[in-house]
This record gives sequence, C-alpha cells and structure tokens, in this order.
Amino acid sequence: MKPNEQIEQVVRTLSNSPNTVVVTGAGISTEAGIPDFRGPNGIYRQLGEDRVMNIINIHTFNQNPALFYDFYRQHFVLPPVEPSKAHYILAEMEKSGFIKGIVTQNIDGLHEKAGSRRVVAVHGNSEQYVCTNRHCRELYGRDKVEPQTSGVPTCEQCGSVLKPDVILFGEPIKHFTDAQDMIMSARTLLVIGSSLTVYPVAGFVKAFSTFYQDLIIINRGPTQLDHAALVKIDRPNTGETLEEIYYYLNRTGK
Ligand SMILES: [Zn+2]
Repeated sequence: MKPNEQIEQVVRTLSNSPNTVVVTGAGISTEAGIPDFRGPNGIYRQLGEDRVMNIINIHTFNQNPALFYDFYRQHFVLPPVEPSKAHYILAEMEKSGFIKGIVTQNIDGLHEKAGSRRVVAVHGNSEQYVCTNRHCRELYGRDKVEPQTSGVPTCEQCGSVLKPDVILFGEPIKHFTDAQDMIMSARTLLVIGSSLTVYPVAGFVKAFSTFYQDLIIINRGPTQLDHAALVKIDRPNTGETLEEIYYYLNRTGK
C-alpha cells in the first residue's frame, strides 16, 4: 500500500519538522462519544445559546451556585468515556518524539487519559473540581464530587464552594501565555478537529500561519484557515487518518 499524496506530504513535513505542536478541538472528542456542545445537535442549539450563557457564567456561579449546579449536573456532567484512537495515537507520537505537545480547546481530559504528557488545556478540565478559596485551591477528582447529586459541593479542607475546573462564560482562558508560546514557537502546526472559530486559539493559529510556517489541518468540513494550510485533510475518521500518518512516519523515521 502506498500513501496518497496528501498523507505523503504530511508525513514528509512532520518527519522534517524540528518542532511540531498539535491543536485539538471538539472533532477529536466526538469520535470518543462526547457530544459537540456547539454542534448541530449540541446543547447550545437545543436550549438556546443565551440560556446556556446566562447560567454557565461566572457571575451566576458566584451569586447563585445552587442554580448553576442544577443546570450543570443536568446538561454538562456526562458519563465517563474512553479516549478515541486519535487520542492514543497522539500520545504515542509524543513519546516517539514526533510532536512536542498539545494545545486543546476540549475540557474532557482525554489527552491526559490517553497518556499525553504536555497538554495545555485552555478551557480547563471537567475531570476535576477546584476550591474557590484562593488560599486553598484544593483539587478534587470528579469521582469524589459527582456522587453528590444535589446542592452545592464544598471543600473538605476549608468549606468553600467547589467549582468545576473549566472556564465559564465571563472568565479568561487558562494558560494563555503557555498556549501562545507553544503555538508560536512551533515549526509545524497540526490542527485536528477544530473549525478554528473559537478565540483566542484560532487567533494564535492565524498568527502562526502568517509567518508562513507549515500548517496542516485535519478536520471534517471547512475551517477558517483552509486557505492558509499547506495540507487540508477532510475525511470522516480522524483516528484512521492519524493511524495512517503514524504508520508511514514510523517507516520514514526521524
Ligand atoms: Zn478549600
């Protein structure tokens, strides 16, 4: 079997790149069974974006955490899922030195679960809860907090309210500088499963692409930066595409 031209170009680019960084969005996690909140059947469409934004909001959380938690439990707490093939292959690619790290817009913690080590999760991680007392900041796994199905969970150490460790509307993204530095220092950027519409990460990728570095996009459907990409792969299954790339990368070596 011979790779097609696109795969061949991706493999060539990755094997020659001294610093490849990956940016992931919802598209990689839908393959693990996680719904795309912003997709056509996502909660934003079902309930109306205004309603979601009014409750999943830092001000509502601070003023009425009970209301926040009722809504959050009902719509955002999902049964645990396993990483997809794509998550596992990215973890392997990091171990074998083909990629340096991942900047993700996803909050599901699946990259970490698959074994990726350097992950910058700009929207946080819904696998954990954090104490809102700035002098405490104790972290709790979801298995510790989510069995409580009503009321507001509190910290065992200090009694303060716990918050899902994800950014809510009205909050700045996490690790802004780390994400920006990681993306801007890359020689090759591999974007997977993101239509590149959510800022600021989309802005970092755009800035990267204006320096004429190598941008590779694997996404189902169009993205905002298709025109700037060296290669754009539009296929239904990201896991299989990455598997193919990784197979030929290993044969080419580094
Ligand atoms: Zn605490």
